[in-house]
This record gives sequence, structure tokens and C-alpha cells, in this order.
Amino acid sequence: MYTAVPTTPMPGGILLRDPLRLNPTSPLPNRILGSLPGSERAILLSQAEYVVIPAGQMLASPGEVPAAAFFPDRGAFCWLGDMSTGHHVAVAIVGTDGLVGISSVLAITRHNFRAIALFESSGYRLPTESLRRAFKEFDFFRAGVLAYVGRQIIEISSHVACNRIHSHSQRLARWLLMMADKSGSTSLKITHEVLAQVVGGPRHAVTMGLNKLGTEGAIAHLRGQIDILDRARLRRNACECYVEPDRPCGDGGGVH
Ligand SMILES: [Zn+2]
Repeated sequence: MYTAVPTTPMPGGILLRDPLRLNPTSPLPNRILGSLPGSERAILLSQAEYVVIPAGQMLASPGEVPAAAFFPDRGAFCWLGDMSTGHHVAVAIVGTDGLVGISSVLAITRHNFRAIALFESSGYRLPTESLRRAFKEFDFFRAGVLAYVGRQIIEISSHVACNRIHSHSQRLARWLLMMADKSGSTSLKITHEVLAQVVGGPRHAVTMGLNKLGTEGAIAHLRGQIDILDRARLRRNACECYVEPDRPCGDGGGVH
């Protein structure tokens, strides 16, 4: 039987009152939380804090198991590997489709990556102890988390092939589509410098790629903001590795 764990405020982020918690039938944008039956959802949310995470804030550090898991309902996070050469390599994006902090339920005690907020993000922060208990005792929650692990394995695997074969401009278009899908917004507040870290390659290559997409009318970009104007046109610039989200329209997450 699930035993409630007393919650204590955790550092980082701005604590907000969560209006959705008051109504257990409200749709939740986070895919995992939104798929839960009312009983599991009510107990999980009673253990969670609703917070806003500023862009650039780190949620997980190399070599550490996070003190809490985070379920975004807006915004997105990037897992980055920092190489000794000074290069930063993006390996995955987590948005409304999943959670940050999954290592604590998968027996991963050490890893070499950090998770940072790509944009200002909001969602539910759940203490690691509560996450572990829910994973052990809640069938629907465990199934939702494992399904997400499966989706992330496929996504990370596709990055390996993509980074070897496809051009920078193709990867740039792909990452922009993925960011929009996972954050649930076609307006992305991100600098060329951060985007260069995510896509890989020099900053000027990002600038050239964005200028090309802007000339074609696929996007507009100005002062750290990229707006997707023509999704179909952007899609045609991306490589075959981009896969449309499999979430049905209207379930509260992603851009379709
Ligand atoms: Zn590709």
C-alpha cells in the first residue's frame, strides 16, 4: 500500500499554486501524469510541488542521482554531455512527453550528463522517494514510465545515426521540430549559442541555417526567439530521423 511521504520544499524553481490539483478530472499536459487513473494521480500530485524552472537552470548533474523528478507540462529540458575537448553534445530532449530524474528508478547510480532547462518550464516536482514508491506500487504509473523509457531509447538511438550521416541544416530543422513538439509551443526562446550546443557544430552554422529557414518562410527568428511559421516547410528541411509525435490531437501535449 502506498504510504504518503511528507513533502518538504526543495531548492530551485519558483513554487506556484497549482490549479489543476484542485480538480482531479482536469487534463494534464504531461503525458505520463495525464494517462493515470484518478486514484494514482491524486496521490502523486499530493506529494508534488508545482514549480516554474527558469531557462538555463540545471536539474541533474553528472555523477548524481537527482533529489527529485520533474514532470514538465510546459517547456523542455536537454540532456547534455560535456566532453573533455570542450564540446557539448545533446543526447535527448525531455518535454511534456516524459520526466527528468528517471535514473533513480532504473538503478542508474552514476551518469555523465547534465539536464538543463532549454526554456522557462513549469510542471510537477516529485521527491525521489515518492517516485520510487509510486514506481513500485502503482501499475499505471510504472507502465507509463517504462513506455517513456522505450520512446527515449529509440530517440537517442536515432540521434547516433543522425549525427553520423545527416547534414547540419537537416539536424537543425529536426531539433526545432522536436523542441516544438516536446515543449508544446511553436515559439521557442533560445539563443543561437544554446542551439549550437544542442545541434552540434559552430554557432555560425546555426545562424546560417536559421537565415536559410527564415528566407524560405519556415521560421522567423529575432533576438533569441524562433517562431515556427510553416511547419510543413520546416519538416521538408529535416532529415528522415524526425518522427511525428504519436500522441492523438487534443490530449494536451505537443504540437500537431
Ligand atoms: Zn537525421
